[in-house]
Amino acid sequence: MPHILDGKKVAQKLKEQLKVEIDNIKLKFKRVPGLAVIQVGNVAASSVYVKAKTKAANEVGINVFDHHLKDTIEQGELLNLINQLNNHNDVDGILVQLPLPKSFNEQKILDSITPEKDADGFHPINVGKLSISQKNDENLLIPCTPFGCLLLLKELNIDLVGKNAVVIGRSNIVGKPMAQLLIKESCTVTIVHSKTVDIEKICKKADILIAAIGKPELVNKNWVKDGAIVIDVGINRIKLNENKSKLVGDVFFNEVKENTMAISPVPGGVGPMTIACLLRNTTTSCKNRLA
Ligand code: NAD
Repeated sequence: MPHILDGKKVAQKLKEQLKVEIDNIKLKFKRVPGLAVIQVGNVAASSVYVKAKTKAANEVGINVFDHHLKDTIEQGELLNLINQLNNHNDVDGILVQLPLPKSFNEQKILDSITPEKDADGFHPINVGKLSISQKNDENLLIPCTPFGCLLLLKELNIDLVGKNAVVIGRSNIVGKPMAQLLIKESCTVTIVHSKTVDIEKICKKADILIAAIGKPELVNKNWVKDGAIVIDVGINRIKLNENKSKLVGDVFFNEVKENTMAISPVPGGVGPMTIACLLRNTTTSCKNRLA
């Protein structure tokens, strides 16, 4: 029987650890970590994510500064707000919910967040630090989704050293930082993507397969070695009929699961870990700033 990697449970464990750390910060420094959450416009999925992040932050004792802006604002106004938050002493983490409206230069906005308060770990300074650090230093601000995947893997208590890991997808927010994290664990890492030749053959050799593609159930049993560990990052909504839809991952879960050692489901796998790691980054920023 495969081990189903329960992201909700592992995320809850991390949140409980963070709560203890936050209580200690409160005792010692008479303040709690602060997270500024910026949403521009009303994209439905963004509103769902912002609500979930705010609720989780409140649960562990993080103070949330909510900034919900109209999509008619100018890029300059958003840059001004970020500048104010960069200088606000009670704000330790700043999160800009993506995607931004088309008229905004997303990279410019993300780059304007001071690296010390970069709750998502997307700033070039933090990307660089992740890339050059020898191990997963606990002061680093690490992109939340790949960090969550690594913590899920660690739950299995297996030796990652020398494992053949294949990451499907080369995005800046998942695929590339995922590869960096696995290299630091001494895995042998291959990144494959939309232009890779013989992708199934390469994936079939993986001891650890991470799918971060955005294509519903693309990865079927022909891609997966017997006994592999499969982490599914994908979140895809598919229509079942006129009124009904459901969320599926990038992996054809029911077909693949039987022959795996462990597999993460969608929903309930990587998603909750991403949120818990955002809280971890905010707490880490706070500790770094108070040190
Ligand atoms: P992206 O679109 O930026 O990148 C997708 C990657 O997949 C690209 O590098 C592309 O080369 C590759 N790809 C596309 N088609 C392919 C194919 N046919 N074969 C092989 N590779 C292919 O997406 P992203 O932001 O990295 O997100 C990937 C998925 O993860 C999406 O479904 C997204 O919704 C999900 N996601 C989930 C979480 C979470 O918290 N669970 C967080 C971020 C992203």
